[in-house]
Amino acid sequence: MAENFAGLADLVSWFKKSKRPFPWRGSPGNSISPYAVWVSEVMLQQTRAEVVIPYFQSWMKQFPDITSLAQASEDEVIKAWEGLGYYARPRRLLRAAQYLMAHHSGNIPSSPDLLAKIPGFGPYTVGAVASFAFHQKAAAVDGNVMRFLSRYLLIRDDIGTPSVQEEFRRRTMELLPNREPWVVMEAMIELGAVICKRQPLCTICPVRTACRAFGEGIAAELPRKSPAKATIRLTRKAVVLKCGEKVLVGQVPLGQVMAGLFEFPIFEGEQVDVYHELGVCLNEKPCLLGSLDIIRYVFTHYQVTLQPTLWEVDKNIEWPGYKWVALGDLRQLPFSSGHRRLCEQILRYFDEMEKM
Ligand code: SF4
Repeated sequence: MAENFAGLADLVSWFKKSKRPFPWRGSPGNSISPYAVWVSEVMLQQTRAEVVIPYFQSWMKQFPDITSLAQASEDEVIKAWEGLGYYARPRRLLRAAQYLMAHHSGNIPSSPDLLAKIPGFGPYTVGAVASFAFHQKAAAVDGNVMRFLSRYLLIRDDIGTPSVQEEFRRRTMELLPNREPWVVMEAMIELGAVICKRQPLCTICPVRTACRAFGEGIAAELPRKSPAKATIRLTRKAVVLKCGEKVLVGQVPLGQVMAGLFEFPIFEGEQVDVYHELGVCLNEKPCLLGSLDIIRYVFTHYQVTLQPTLWEVDKNIEWPGYKWVALGDLRQLPFSSGHRRLCEQILRYFDEMEKM
């Protein structure tokens, strides 16, 4: 065991007794494939484990291996990811699966150098796959580990800067023992997730006697991080344009947030005159059927208020970037979170109209 990691034995013993039984964690007689480790690690980035569980299980049913993932369409992978957010992740998984088919016969290589060449594999994913899938001594340093180590080692530097993150990876490698380093790596992540949280639970922490921040009484002041971007409030007027049994939806272009997801047409701003704008876009005056319920949602650092209205036209007008989709097919499409709720709202609305 690493001599410089005071409290290591207590950490490992706590982890072996208390670790949460997630489907991506192997158990005796039930080993997990490198592919499953990789998928779970990508899903867990920026998402809580409890939220990831059902997505992981259905993803593994739909795409059980690299071959099936590589053959999927972008729409299929985004649909499977719908609701998890940060949609660059499923696109990167797809690209990486296609790369692995082309360069590694559909297998994930174990060498960190080769892992680092796979599209979308940053330092965390390389470390996590090398450690948890191939049981190598590798640093998988996420926010949980940085929070724990900044307190345990009393590191006061800004954890948002790449050079400090590199320093955390170096210090992690120094701490990892030669014996079962993957267990210690996972134990550090688990400790950061459930004990050394933003509000640390020091009184029940297995390493508190060795923790420098606890000793100095400043655990809750660490880690240091530059302030997050200020929240920006957006008002968007969404248009549900109906023609017979179809509505108009468009796919967000590549390069934009929510790229690949479907949305209803929107006009930005509290003051925008939707009737006028629609007339310009459609070259025809639509008929207003009514207002729908306001939807509020958050993505990255935006707080959005979606103010939807329902309109009708009597022919399938062309609007570049949009297409007419049958109401019955809407649930097959991947929508961004606010527009998914709008989609459900109008499907309920039309159901009720039919019953009247
Ligand atoms: Fe974190 Fe407190 Fe444990 Fe230190 S004692 S590692 S601050 S939970």
